[in-house]
Amino acid sequence: MPGKDDDKSSFPDPEEITRKLSDFLRSNFGDNVSFTTMTEPGSPFGQASAAGGEDHDLRSDAAFSPELDFDLIPRQIKDHLDRYVIRQDEAKKALAIAVCDHYHHAAYLKRLAETDPGEAKRVEFAKQNVIIVGPTGVGKTYLVKHIAELIGVPFVKADATKFSETGYVGGDVDDLVRELVRKADGNVELAQYGIVYLDEIDKIASAANVGGRDVSGRGVQTTLLKLMEETEVPVRNPQDMQSQMQAMFEMSRNGGKPTRETINTRHILFIVSGAFSGLEKIMDRRLRQGPIGFVTSTEEPDAVESKGPREPITQDFIDFGFEAEFIGRLPVRVVCEPLAADDLFEIMKHSEGSLIRQYEREFESYGIRAEFTDEALHAIAEAAAREKTGARGLMTVCERLLRHFKFELPGTSVAELRITEELVADPAATLSAILAGAAPVGDPRIVAEVATFRRKFEAEHGVRLAFDAAAVARLTVLAEESGRSVPDLCAEKFRDFHFGLQLIRKNTGQTTFPVTAEAIDDPDKYLSNLVVASYRG
Ligand code: ADP
Repeated sequence: MPGKDDDKSSFPDPEEITRKLSDFLRSNFGDNVSFTTMTEPGSPFGQASAAGGEDHDLRSDAAFSPELDFDLIPRQIKDHLDRYVIRQDEAKKALAIAVCDHYHHAAYLKRLAETDPGEAKRVEFAKQNVIIVGPTGVGKTYLVKHIAELIGVPFVKADATKFSETGYVGGDVDDLVRELVRKADGNVELAQYGIVYLDEIDKIASAANVGGRDVSGRGVQTTLLKLMEETEVPVRNPQDMQSQMQAMFEMSRNGGKPTRETINTRHILFIVSGAFSGLEKIMDRRLRQGPIGFVTSTEEPDAVESKGPREPITQDFIDFGFEAEFIGRLPVRVVCEPLAADDLFEIMKHSEGSLIRQYEREFESYGIRAEFTDEALHAIAEAAAREKTGARGLMTVCERLLRHFKFELPGTSVAELRITEELVADPAATLSAILAGAAPVGDPRIVAEVATFRRKFEAEHGVRLAFDAAAVARLTVLAEESGRSVPDLCAEKFRDFHFGLQLIRKNTGQTTFPVTAEAIDDPDKYLSNLVVASYRG
């Protein structure tokens, strides 16, 4: 007779059951019916991202944890944002205050709940959900992502259009909250303090004001409203058979005790955003009207500008097509400004997350040191501004500009690429000129290894070795002959080089030293020649 343990081991695991059920469903219903899991790539939250990116440890140096107090002040949040986000000062301040208020309050209630749970439930709590208005690519998502990263709470982003497109499915809205749990690695407690960010919220405005009824938009607003206020969302999607099965298995593993069943949305911060095209006109109209609604002047919008704040008020959003109850749950109004060419230049030059660093790293991994001149950055910024997609235009322009360089230069003797105004004006001609003077080098793997050695040498000693194609070729041959690796050979040949090179730097200010095949064959002789020459001046 099989023992108890044997029974357990012969019990199929959830994956196996899922597979068998999937096969069963497929053979009976074809591909029309299938299982879904939240972690599949086709998940409704393809765009959702954990704060700081997928492989970032959310909770490293986090300011917030369900166990600890939240201890940031608004200025610290703004300072952090200033490192990454150019401009948008008002938005940074408003967001920083809203976030501090929200998490201070959440931490306060948490402490109170430990001593007086009844009182903690009774305390009035007006959540500071935020609405951000601004064109595409000006940093709306970027701001929220960096805030979530700083605080160390899970962050989920989705497009509100998804709800209206699918004709609104209540479960989808709940999935947003469940996604927070996944971002928090299953930690429901932490998920309850997460941030949900919904972009393109303007697309769920009811079209009723423009003529006709838009039931779907209104329906989505009502569902979101409940979520923004306070509701309990089941941790497991009741529609998803696999989730339900997993819950069952977890329960049996827990000795029959159900695992945590619902997520409370009371402390989840909701931030919504959109471009709201047409809102400007609504605001202009309002500013031109007197308090009782008559148009009191025929002034041009420009002249009106100085009269009132350019911040939209509740009535503007209602006129745009939002329900008063919905917009009332979003008391913090933030406006992000469009970015001009000068701002785009600043982003490239000074933002810590600058795209330019990314390009430099990409070229560096092929052993090419890329350097952007300020004139080139200005020209790129001008071209990007013409795209009218905010900072996203930078990516479009750089990609178009540098694609052929990235393809043609790796594997050649080119070790430096200066991205100048001329290159931006005529990339094809510049590339041809560079390639005319370049020679192919052998193994790209060796080029990359040499580049790694060069980077390390520069980081350690503050002087730079510029290996030419012949030097790389010579190293390749030596590595083959000796059966040693290139980094090994370089380390040996240039072991004490830095003393001599630093001496030369002191004498002449030179910081980059060409390395030729002769230098590889007889490094000592090469170095002493250089040193002697430096004394001659
Ligand atoms: P949106 O306003 O449409 O949400 P994003 O915040 O997603 O735009 O911006 C897209 C990318 O452009 C960001 O990932 C960031 O690299 C860059 N970016 C946008 N605005 C700024 C800004 N103000 N400062 C620095 N980088 C920015």
